[in-house]
Amino acid sequence: MSKPRKVHVKSFGCQMNVYDSHRMADTLAPAGFAETTSPDDADLVILNTCHIREKAAQKVYSEIGRVRVMKEAAAAEGRRLLIAVAGCVAQAEGEEIIRRAGAVDLVVGSQNYHRLPQLVARAADGERIVDTEFPVEDKFAALAAPQRAAIQRRGVASFVTVQEGCDKFCTFCVVPYTRGAEVSRPVAQIVTEVERLAAGGVREITLIGQNVNAYHGPGEDGSAWTLGTLLRRLAQVPGIDRLRYTTSHPRDMADDLIAAHAELPELMPYVHLPVQSGSDRLLAAMNRKHTRADYLAAIERLRAVRPDLALSSDFIVGFPGETEADFRDTLALIEEVGFAGAFSFMYSPRPGTPAAEMADQVPQEEKAERLQRLQALIVRQQRSFNASFAGRTLDVLLEKPGKLTGQLVGKSPYLQAVQVMAPRSAIGSIARVTVTEVGSNSLFGALVEYNDAPQLAAAGA
Ligand code: SAM
Ligand code: SF4
Repeated sequence: MSKPRKVHVKSFGCQMNVYDSHRMADTLAPAGFAETTSPDDADLVILNTCHIREKAAQKVYSEIGRVRVMKEAAAAEGRRLLIAVAGCVAQAEGEEIIRRAGAVDLVVGSQNYHRLPQLVARAADGERIVDTEFPVEDKFAALAAPQRAAIQRRGVASFVTVQEGCDKFCTFCVVPYTRGAEVSRPVAQIVTEVERLAAGGVREITLIGQNVNAYHGPGEDGSAWTLGTLLRRLAQVPGIDRLRYTTSHPRDMADDLIAAHAELPELMPYVHLPVQSGSDRLLAAMNRKHTRADYLAAIERLRAVRPDLALSSDFIVGFPGETEADFRDTLALIEEVGFAGAFSFMYSPRPGTPAAEMADQVPQEEKAERLQRLQALIVRQQRSFNASFAGRTLDVLLEKPGKLTGQLVGKSPYLQAVQVMAPRSAIGSIARVTVTEVGSNSLFGALVEYNDAPQLAAAGA
């Protein structure tokens, strides 16, 4: 029997990449690759890359440089280390990666991970491979399911991709080019995956997609189901106590999804709804296909059914042509909504996107100055949101050991990290925790009560 080999997958960028990294490792497991958390003892290192902003894409080459040193050290010991580049940089740059970085053995695009066992075998035979064609077959149907040990190692909260790609073509964004057209997975496939995760001890599922609320996959009755209908179905899966979804587009915030927030106790009161800008002029230039008023109306509809709903968003500052007045519109929108948190970025021109060619690119110093002002406002809002929980008792899903001995870290319904002293056996249970202290990034609490997590206990984890 051949010696078991090890694969290390390093993820950059979004949650979809985290999910893909797990599925790559799952798909390589039957081919004899065990997952390792360190690249040092790996026979195969996969860099799962992100192309969304220039900085993210540049990181890949410095990371390849680091792994190349390991490859040379391994070769000196008579060991072969294969380097694969996957993800959106692989999709966007293809052959160029092999030209720039001679140490790379395999470049695999974001739709071809199910072919990894064959591609790796060919690379091991000395072939240098670039596979970035969008395939006709369903990648998700061909990817291997995770083994129980892998599910347990990854913890009690899991991502499940339900929708991929994007047809919206915002003028700043590479996603429609790197991930392809919008595709929704069939409901039956998702239900089977979620049941499997639940049987392995998972209690919280976050459904992910670039435009998750545009989900329209074939349902169990043959008709196209909405995200709201899918959530109602998944709420019935035994063992799944919490559901979340991300990332949503303001245009696709349908009534039945909003109604699900009122109906489903499993659906957590937190929505990430990117707006990018508060200026209608810029929203039009970004091709967002929604106005500031549309965005505010979506928030009002959500808050009408779930007044305690926490909101977060994405913002881009310094989009071409952004004036101080446009930027103030964004700050005013933030003041008006009140966010629990947000991601904010300086506009980064991406090759091949319309905005990269626009006149009036904003100077770097102006972008940096606006980003600082916007982030200061978000931090103030996040602090006051967290401070409002002092003394309150919350349901916390306990996920993993914390930094201190005897401490566990979990998540509140509002996606806040909560640290609490609790026995390790409580991992996987939803505990009642009273918030005793509010930190800058997390809450600290005292355990009131918890029930054992039966599935994990049964599995001996
Ligand atoms: N589909 C989501 C949406 O419509 O908002 C987000 C997808 S994108 C992976 C995540 C975020 O990256 C975007 O919301 C946007 O704020 C940011 N982003 C995308 N392209 C960017 C660019 N060229 N420069 C700076 N930020 C960018
Ligand atoms: Fe990119 Fe816009 Fe599609 Fe979001 S909706 S993935 S920002 S093109």
